[in-house]
Amino acid sequence: MKTIGLLGGMSWESTAHYYRMLNQGINDRLGGLHSAQIAMVSVDFQPLETLMQKGDWTEVGKRLADAAQKIAKAGADFLLICTNTMHKVAPTITDSVEIPLLHIADATAEKIKAAKLHTVGLLGTAFTMEEEFYQGRLSNYHGLEVIVPSSKDRSRVHDIIFDELCRGKIRDESRKTYLRIIETMRSQGAEAVIEGCTEISMLVNQDHTTVPLFDTTALHVEQAVSFALSD
Ligand code: GLU
Repeated sequence: MKTIGLLGGMSWESTAHYYRMLNQGINDRLGGLHSAQIAMVSVDFQPLETLMQKGDWTEVGKRLADAAQKIAKAGADFLLICTNTMHKVAPTITDSVEIPLLHIADATAEKIKAAKLHTVGLLGTAFTMEEEFYQGRLSNYHGLEVIVPSSKDRSRVHDIIFDELCRGKIRDESRKTYLRIIETMRSQGAEAVIEGCTEISMLVNQDHTTVPLFDTTALHVEQAVSFALSD
């Protein structure tokens, strides 16, 4: 079994889900007392969040590349960045280590294409919903048609992530807001919606809507489990 490298803490709320789901996934496949081999660095999110909001992505990249090097040194065979947003600096991170990165958007897009879906709604931070590194990767690299919420709704989605979900707060009011936005994207042609932020499944899951949801945390974990057990 390969050792899974986890770059976590962004937020720790969702990294805790990664940890549990990876162990569960390995145990489901191997049984007994089997569990995942993991090398993890979990960062302090506050200073990184401050840098992100200031737009200092160079410093964010430097700090995360440093963390990735520690993970590689600890014996990881491959790397997961446990957040969609921080894939904005994925090139800096991959340049700094020899081990491969399993990109969260690729893990998700492969599943969408396998389900023969083409037009998807995207929820995530403003960076994820608006920028080339993520929504552009889905459309240009994977050929998906991507619908994002209106500018006002994107702000709402973004604020709920940072003010509530990353702090472990789950509010019915916010769930209603997300479900309304999901319905709007369906009416605009979305066949499914990507939960493109690793905390969103804490708020909205498939029990809450008939719109097919693609949970990036679960799909990233699923791909990592298969890769860890592959030759
Ligand atoms: N975990 C979130 C994501 O998947 C947001 C936190 C961050 O900015 O990294 O994008």
